[in-house]
Amino acid sequence: METTLIVGACQAGVQLAATLRDLGDTDPIVMIGEEAHRPYQRPPLSKGWLKGELEPDDVVLRTRQWFADREIALIAGDRVVTIHRESNGTGIAQTLGGRQIAFTRLALTTGAAVRRLALPGTDYRGVHYLRDADDAIALGPALAEPGAERVVVIGGGFIGLEAASAARQLGKHVTIVEGTGRLIGRVVAEPTSDFYLAAHRRRGTEVLLGARLARILGEDASAAGRRGSVTGVELEDGRVIPADLVVIGIGVLPRVELAVQLGLEVAGGIVVDEACRTSDGRTVAAGDCAIMPNPYPAGVGGMVRIESVNNALEQAKVAAATLLGRDAAYVSVPWFWSDQADLKLQIAGLSTGYDDVVVRGDPDAEKFAVLYYRDGRLIAADCVNQPAEFLAIKQALSKGKTIPSLAAADTGVPLKQSVVDAPVALAS
Ligand SMILES: Cc1cc2nc3c(=O)[nH]c(=O)nc-3n(C[C@H](O)[C@H](O)[C@H](O)COP(=O)(O)OP(=O)(O)OC[C@H]3O[C@@H](n4cnc5c(N)ncnc54)[C@H](O)[C@@H]3O)c2cc1C
Repeated sequence: METTLIVGACQAGVQLAATLRDLGDTDPIVMIGEEAHRPYQRPPLSKGWLKGELEPDDVVLRTRQWFADREIALIAGDRVVTIHRESNGTGIAQTLGGRQIAFTRLALTTGAAVRRLALPGTDYRGVHYLRDADDAIALGPALAEPGAERVVVIGGGFIGLEAASAARQLGKHVTIVEGTGRLIGRVVAEPTSDFYLAAHRRRGTEVLLGARLARILGEDASAAGRRGSVTGVELEDGRVIPADLVVIGIGVLPRVELAVQLGLEVAGGIVVDEACRTSDGRTVAAGDCAIMPNPYPAGVGGMVRIESVNNALEQAKVAAATLLGRDAAYVSVPWFWSDQADLKLQIAGLSTGYDDVVVRGDPDAEKFAVLYYRDGRLIAADCVNQPAEFLAIKQALSKGKTIPSLAAADTGVPLKQSVVDAPVALAS
């Protein structure tokens, strides 16, 4: 009999356990997560949750009954601190709470931890991060407070933009402070960045680009008789932006500490192959913690670490099959979404290594798509309020097809009519 230990109880961990059972594994499964909550979805935390539209049950991934029915032992609120593994594959995990968990199969779904801002002032009251349920539980009511009128969001990535959007919808005065020259610059091309800049400004949010932060300012703690409250942020050029609330969204770092301890290869994440197998050949890893060869187009563009629900689920399915000794490979087209006010962004594929973009439709109408090409072949697209275009592109990509760029630019012809065989193999 085998015992599977899954470290990390969120999107990837829960899916991995579910797939093991779906594939007929009846052996013991133990899943442990350090957060003292039932496994939950993170995406709503920066969307409906901040606007006060959701209850805890709305974000929970699976009920207690679901775990019980599948005989998946879930331990919440305890952290695995060390793992010892013998050469025959058996091992013992030690937790902070004193548990010792023996296993024969090991899956790391440890996710990512928020990147902390290394500047003075982050400990003032009213300074928030947004990664975990606890962060959202603190930030939601803080935003709802009538005194929290001026909100500064540090970081113009997806989390920052979604938090800014929620705050603006709550009627706050919102300023986004982004250090680089454009929004979401790590993921999308200029037309999409430019669109989001204009769209947030249109909705009354101030956006400062190329704005380097010097420190967070707050009231004198001793005068307040407690931890002082935030009063604003100061930029390197001396400008001060007053704030009652500061939300920091400057990215995440993969949780690789257990992988390092196990001697697994780590390079910007836990290195896995297409089967989600780590460098020891038997441990698997999936989700935000894992970095793998680009799944689409396979082998092109090097290694990628993808932070998305879809990726966590797809990798987890593959990892589960691998643990059971089946042949499995992650070959599906990655996709992602982000909701900001009434703007629904859906991204199909990965734009890594693109050399051309085509804008289809009118960004000013807030309905358009940006298609990414490499060597003349479609590799990805950002679709804003264009669900049908997104589906057509995702389907074309998953069949290995392309859409010629001239046809893509012609909004008079439905995209799905322009899908053709991809003529060239991409250079890696
Ligand atoms: C606010 C927010 C909004 C998002 N919105 C979107 C969106 O709109 N669309 C989208 O596709 N994606 C979105 N994402 C990203 C998506 O939620 C993540 O990609 C996904 O949660 C990754 O799942 P995971 O299981 O790999 O990792 P995680 O969700 O990070 O879970 C890993 C878990 O492992 C636990 N853990 C780590 N180490 C240990 C240990 N040693 N012992 C025990 N437990 C441990 C962690 O505490 C954590 O609970 C969002 C993320 C956030 C934070």
